[in-house]
Amino acid sequence: MNSNNNATKPSKPSALTAVKGMNDLLPPDSARWEWLEDKVRQLMARHAYRNLRTPIVEPTALFVRGLGEVTDIVEKEMYSFEDRLNGEQLTLRPEATAGVVRAVVEHNMLYDGGKRLYYMGPMFRHERPQRGRYRQFHQIGAEALGFAGPEVDAELILMAHALWQELGLNDVRLELNSLGQPHERAAYRTALIAYLTQHTDVMDEEAKRRLHSNPLRILDTKNPAMQAMVEAAPKLIDFLGEASLAHFNAVKAILDACGVAYRINPRLVRGMDYYNLTVFEFVTEHLGSQGTICGGGRYDYLIEQIGGKPAPAVGWALGVERVLELLKEQGNPPQAPVPDVYAIVPDACALPQVHQTLQALRAQGLSVQMHAATGEGMGSMKSQFKKADASGAPMALIFGADELSRGEVVIKQLRDGAGAQENCPLAQVAPALLRHLHRDMA
Ligand code: ATP
Ligand code: MG
Repeated sequence: MNSNNNATKPSKPSALTAVKGMNDLLPPDSARWEWLEDKVRQLMARHAYRNLRTPIVEPTALFVRGLGEVTDIVEKEMYSFEDRLNGEQLTLRPEATAGVVRAVVEHNMLYDGGKRLYYMGPMFRHERPQRGRYRQFHQIGAEALGFAGPEVDAELILMAHALWQELGLNDVRLELNSLGQPHERAAYRTALIAYLTQHTDVMDEEAKRRLHSNPLRILDTKNPAMQAMVEAAPKLIDFLGEASLAHFNAVKAILDACGVAYRINPRLVRGMDYYNLTVFEFVTEHLGSQGTICGGGRYDYLIEQIGGKPAPAVGWALGVERVLELLKEQGNPPQAPVPDVYAIVPDACALPQVHQTLQALRAQGLSVQMHAATGEGMGSMKSQFKKADASGAPMALIFGADELSRGEVVIKQLRDGAGAQENCPLAQVAPALLRHLHRDMA
């Protein structure tokens, strides 16, 4: 290196960008996420589901064991790596149910009965990025563990339905199926393989590969050339015994009573191996081929599979990006938040007193945006007013030196009342602003 050589300019470092399929979430969009998360927290509280947060990184074996080896996720979508420092095999979680179950088992959470839990957070799958399909995406999920009855399946479905209603999403279709119990599925599997074996001429390579490893997943194919063939395949529902049918009918009866419409989809099998009995998806026509916004079902054997004492469970997960996209398409997307007040400060000397006042306002729950100096003082009054307008705040507070010396500040209306202004004693600012906003004191 020759630092004296002025002829070679230091090369500008190239700009770094986010990983493909992984998105930054910026304002004002992030406000829509927060709004949805708030709605979900209230919904969960109303149904007495409690929040659980598990690590984003889990041992790879958890997903191989939990999801099944011959699934899209485990075969080709997982971000798996070896920890350089200790050689552990780790994976960025592609879904959260396996981690929730691990945590529930590890902390013996079912010792005093069932638990109703929910989570929110990022998931990772190496898929081809497109609208509604990302490599880092976000799920909100609810799980009820330790409950065997159909009323809990129904409770979860009703809860998701209530969320769509609350969000103003009226055009979401519920698809429902029952996968029965493992022995019923085994009998069906044999019949299905026999049927598929006679139709290998229309099957694509992936389907042929799955013929013996995971034939049920072939029914889920998106290949148009195979639709007629899978349509005519034997139906799992015809292989269910009395107990499985009774469970299914009980779920349907509750949904009927609550006025929640559904369509039985005999081909709905879901991507993970761990499901049994009830499975369901909420689907929309408004998002192209990424139309499933939420999916779930019962997974009575997963807890044992992951090393816990056998216990039944049921849950769902929704795709946050897809729900927000749908909201944008057909709901009432929330407005970006605006501050209640914009503080204008003609003279920087007043800043200590200004901050004192603004903190007191914030303590009363008011949202206050402070005009920030640009380096050379506070900027002209004109530019401060311009920024106040652009902030969207309905009111400005003007901390003029004369008013401050009298212990007052000017409240100026920026929207309705077109510029009306009044002087207000500092001690009375909070109640005055709250009155204008039609709000109560904290
Ligand atoms: P798909 O058939 O669309 O691939 P999936 O069956 O793999 O979905 P689940 O594992 O059931 O999806 O996940 C639940 C929800 O999470 C989906 O219904 C969807 O809304 C969302 N989701 C799944 N994968 C992605 C992804 N790569 N990007 C964005 N959202 C996703
Ligand atoms: Mg998928």
